[in-house]
Amino acid sequence: MDFSFSTEQEALRHHLNELLDAVCPPEYAERCDREAKPPRAAYRALAEHGWFGLAIPREYGGSGGSPLELAILLEEAGRHFEELAMWLFRTLTYGGYAVALHGTRAQKESILPRVLKGELSFCFGLTEPHSGSDAAALATRASRVEGGYSISGQKVFTSGMDISDYCLLVTRTATEARKQQGITNFLVETSLPGIEVRKIETLGQRAIGTTQVFYTDVRVPDSAVLGALDEGWAAVDAYLWYERLCLSAARTGAASAAFDYALGYAKERKQFGRAIGSFQAISHKLADMKVMLDVARMLVYRFAWLLAQGKATRHDAAVLKLQTGEAYKAISDLGLQILGGYGYCMEYPMQRFFRDSRLAVIGGGTSEIQRNIIARGLGL
Ligand SMILES: Cc1cc2nc3c(=O)[nH]c(=O)nc-3n(C[C@H](O)[C@H](O)[C@H](O)COP(=O)(O)OP(=O)(O)OC[C@H]3O[C@@H](n4cnc5c(N)ncnc54)[C@H](O)[C@@H]3O)c2cc1C
Repeated sequence: MDFSFSTEQEALRHHLNELLDAVCPPEYAERCDREAKPPRAAYRALAEHGWFGLAIPREYGGSGGSPLELAILLEEAGRHFEELAMWLFRTLTYGGYAVALHGTRAQKESILPRVLKGELSFCFGLTEPHSGSDAAALATRASRVEGGYSISGQKVFTSGMDISDYCLLVTRTATEARKQQGITNFLVETSLPGIEVRKIETLGQRAIGTTQVFYTDVRVPDSAVLGALDEGWAAVDAYLWYERLCLSAARTGAASAAFDYALGYAKERKQFGRAIGSFQAISHKLADMKVMLDVARMLVYRFAWLLAQGKATRHDAAVLKLQTGEAYKAISDLGLQILGGYGYCMEYPMQRFFRDSRLAVIGGGTSEIQRNIIARGLGL
């Protein structure tokens, strides 16, 4: 068993950090959050320096990196600005990974080279008003019409729909006894007639945010179908495993930034003539945060390794999502407490970690649902 990164992986992390330090410093992340503006310049810079190629196969111009390199990319992007990592992961998962895995040759040739150059953004439309945790109960319908399909229905929480070129949309194409059957995935251009997007005001994740989307007789050609007709649920499952790696790496990066800030503050801030970090009540919080962070990182890279070996299971994905999400939430909460009143002020970054981390135990499958999966794996 080898817990070290290779020299190439260390170099990759080093170069990535040099770029991110320059294009995504803390004040840039704070401004994007405050002004609710997507981090476009940083996103473009990552594309220009070839980082989008990590998830693209070599035959389409990418470097075909493994899940381990992808985790490094998302951890470091998340450490600089979680929402930059979120934008990146949506495009790399739903534009890069999904199209490389299930796309036709024509889809791969038209989409992957443009993802590589950072010309396209993707989002994911699964959740609906009446199907959240019970995601397969979705009702948005794609009906056969001449030359393609007509899509009608409603999605909620489609993050980044308003800044995306394509949505990987999960629809029902047939009504079967099992709700997981009769599901088909489409690559839908977000500018098509019949699509209406409404922004949702949220507690955190404000730079890109999320939307409600109404589909009314949206016409798409047959070539918009991604993967097998009526059998799209297995594909959604595969995308969600990949998503769990990306989300967990990004949030572990963000948690490490929250930890570093709190540690620095505890060493600087003096009360009763001493640095507050010298009070055991504060140093024990930081010790607990450090342990949570170490466990989260180990789970991220273990899962990346399992994925690369083709050995990852649903149980592993749930353990990863549960532990990293809860760790990020706890670390941000403790970090806020360490900053005292300043933790509660918008001028300091801790409130952003606190707000953003709240989603980590809800979005992409709640902690309760992850516990259900783990318990089922235990035969309960
Ligand atoms: C900011 C934001 C961004 C998002 N981005 C996206 C996106 O880009 N694309 C997308 O498709 N979705 C997205 N989501 C949706 C997200 O994945 C869902 O919100 C999440 O899966 C929970 O669904 P729900 O909100 O409908 O809650 P519900 O399913 O209604 O759950 C409510 C509560 O009941 C609990 N619960 C439900 N069922 C069970 C059960 N069987 N056992 C125990 N407890 C249970 C839940 O854990 C939760 O605490 C986003 C959500 C938010 C808030």
